[in-house]
Amino acid sequence: MNIDDLLRYIESLGGLANVKMDTIGYSTFGRPIYAFFVGNTTGVQVLMEGGIHAREYLSTLFLLEEIKYLADQYSNGGFDGGFYIVPLVNPDGVALVLDGDISVTCDIQKQILNLINGGNDFSLWKANGLGVDLNVNFDAEWGTGVQNVKCPSSGNFVGFYPESEREVAILINFAKSISFDCSLSWHTKGEVIYYGFDTLSPQSLARDYALAKEISAVNGYQVVKSDGSVGGFSDWVSLNYDVPAVTIELGSASLSHPLGLEILPSVFEKNKKVPLKAFSSIQKTT
Ligand SMILES: [Zn+2]
Repeated sequence: MNIDDLLRYIESLGGLANVKMDTIGYSTFGRPIYAFFVGNTTGVQVLMEGGIHAREYLSTLFLLEEIKYLADQYSNGGFDGGFYIVPLVNPDGVALVLDGDISVTCDIQKQILNLINGGNDFSLWKANGLGVDLNVNFDAEWGTGVQNVKCPSSGNFVGFYPESEREVAILINFAKSISFDCSLSWHTKGEVIYYGFDTLSPQSLARDYALAKEISAVNGYQVVKSDGSVGGFSDWVSLNYDVPAVTIELGSASLSHPLGLEILPSVFEKNKKVPLKAFSSIQKTT
């Protein structure tokens, strides 16, 4: 699979019954960023995003399977509400992981990226095409994380200022354009559900913990209070919205990045009911 195949496949899902697709913007290097909607806008609304860390593109593949699954469930009268899904927030980074520096058309940028990466093996790259780690670039206690770095890197560079990156601005604008009751962020790896941004009130913390426990009852993942996590999308949601936001790390910790396609069927089986579980859990409390 290369990046062009992946983008074509993502776009093809826009033709499914009960699925709406929009292009919500373009990455730094001009690749489309797609958002999907499955369901209706009357009931509970769940926002999900994946592929924000490049080497974690298995989260994108999971969300693509989930779009098909949710569309089927909706056809069969399975829920009254909606799911907004941005499956690939960081297409330029995933292009580097899948295709290497051949995916970069500008020669100077290619040389810069090789320098940042310390070679031309980009299989462990997390950042976007400019060496900024998108999931530490949000304006949520930005730059205060223990693993944050201050210079372009394959991972953990926070950017020169908060929300400096196009892909982050696109996700924020999209989130602001919709109404949602819950946010699920999909990453790899570790089979962990993180909850609990530092600034949450005790009530909000208890609410997010309850959601994480409900999810854990489906996929068996460990529930962990995030400690010192800042600048991520879940953190940004927690800071700006009074809705639960959790981060789910797909795949066993014993596997190596990037997790291979061969584990997608087992990861999907374990997690396919998680979004609907989150949905019904929110439904109960609203
Ligand atoms: Zn990640």
